[in-house]
Amino acid sequence: MDFEFSPKVREHMAQLEAFMDEHVYPREREHHEFVMDPANLWKQPPVVEELKAQARAAGIWNWFLPADYGDWSPGFTNLEFAPLAEIMGRQPWSFEVFNCSAPDRGNMEVLARFGSAEQQDQWLRPLLAGEIRSTYAMTEPQVASSDATNIELRIEREGDQYVLNGRKWWSSNIMHPLNQVLVTMGVTNPDAPRHQRHSMVLVPRDAAGLEVVRAVEVFGNYHSPAGHGELRFTNVRVPLDNIILGEGQGFTIAQGRLGPGRFQYAMTNVGMAQRMLDLMCARSEQREAFGKTIGEQSSVRQDIARARCAIEQARLLVFKAAAEMDRSGAKGARDYISMVKIIGPKLAHDVAERAMQIFGGKGVSGDTPIAEMYVLARLMRIADGPDEVHMNQLAKLTMAQVEIERKSGRGGIAWFGD
Ligand SMILES: Cc1cc2nc3c(=O)[nH]c(=O)nc-3n(C[C@H](O)[C@H](O)[C@H](O)COP(=O)(O)OP(=O)(O)OC[C@H]3O[C@@H](n4cnc5c(N)ncnc54)[C@H](O)[C@@H]3O)c2cc1C
Repeated sequence: MDFEFSPKVREHMAQLEAFMDEHVYPREREHHEFVMDPANLWKQPPVVEELKAQARAAGIWNWFLPADYGDWSPGFTNLEFAPLAEIMGRQPWSFEVFNCSAPDRGNMEVLARFGSAEQQDQWLRPLLAGEIRSTYAMTEPQVASSDATNIELRIEREGDQYVLNGRKWWSSNIMHPLNQVLVTMGVTNPDAPRHQRHSMVLVPRDAAGLEVVRAVEVFGNYHSPAGHGELRFTNVRVPLDNIILGEGQGFTIAQGRLGPGRFQYAMTNVGMAQRMLDLMCARSEQREAFGKTIGEQSSVRQDIARARCAIEQARLLVFKAAAEMDRSGAKGARDYISMVKIIGPKLAHDVAERAMQIFGGKGVSGDTPIAEMYVLARLMRIADGPDEVHMNQLAKLTMAQVEIERKSGRGGIAWFGD
């Protein structure tokens, strides 16, 4: 096992770190003040568009799309992208600067893998160029959406069109001024077996009958300019050609969509946690109380040491997940993907807890990225599937594996007297 990055990865890490140092960190305050100003609600911060142009010119662009996507990909394996995603994760809005942000990256993966040539021309090319953005509309308010087989939105065929009726919520990015398309999941075949009832269709953002009922708040914040919408579809009509892959393929697509995305989320969490650790170390060295620096308090040193251990553990596990994905695809790596989905957000959440305490009042203010990262880490324990669902899945896989080994006679899985 080799723990060293290749020269190619080291070179790209250095390039990305330099870009973050020179262009992203110095503009954080400007970005924060813009998005927090109510007068700018749903407006794209000019700094993001400026930095997008610079990042694209520098070739730091679409690095998220794994090499097995062929000509669409800039050619990184999942393992190569992992440390790069960590660096972007140190300031989560920078993912958009590098055209690597959710939910667009998952939607781009879907279109690159399953889209028709026409769909790729109409939607994938402008997405990869960073000219438009998109939404993934699966979750619905009236059903437990962690079980996606519950999704109810109806997609009915009428002549040469599909007609959509139903509700969605937590449709992230829906308010973004560049948003032009929704990858929408619904039921086409209600009588088919449970995992073949659903399909995904592309719905233009300006389709007649698509109404944003409201923007949903997250801990009192709208996450402008992206927003998370509650939507109503009333007789929304799209051409039959807007279906992705075909009727009944919704779960095939959903499975393909979530593999790289989940490990990329986990790497974001590692990046956020590392940034918070760096900040808390610097603060502890500089701030004095009761005659010594905060960093001289043993409880603070324990917090820093524990955070460092937890970050390194998570980082290595995510690398392992990425390597498994490169070796055996999202399906073969599903237990590792569940593991990183469980530990990633919890890591960032726990480090944020410690960092906030060490920063005192400043830690819960908007003057450091910590409070925002705390919220992000918390919501990632629900978004993209709640922790418990992944734990259920992982436990099932683990028990099944042990049962196979026990039956095949592996030692150490029996008691005296059995
Ligand atoms: C900020 C944010 C952004 C989001 N963005 C999007 C988006 O862009 N597109 C989209 O479609 N959705 C999005 N979501 C929705 C998210 O994916 C769902 O909230 C999530 O899948 C859970 O569905 P639910 O809210 O219906 O919870 P439910 O399904 O009602 O589950 C509630 C709780 O029940 C428990 N539970 C459920 N199943 C199990 C189980 N098997 N074992 C043990 N306990 C269980 C868990 O504690 C779970 O949290 C977003 C959510 C948030 C918070």
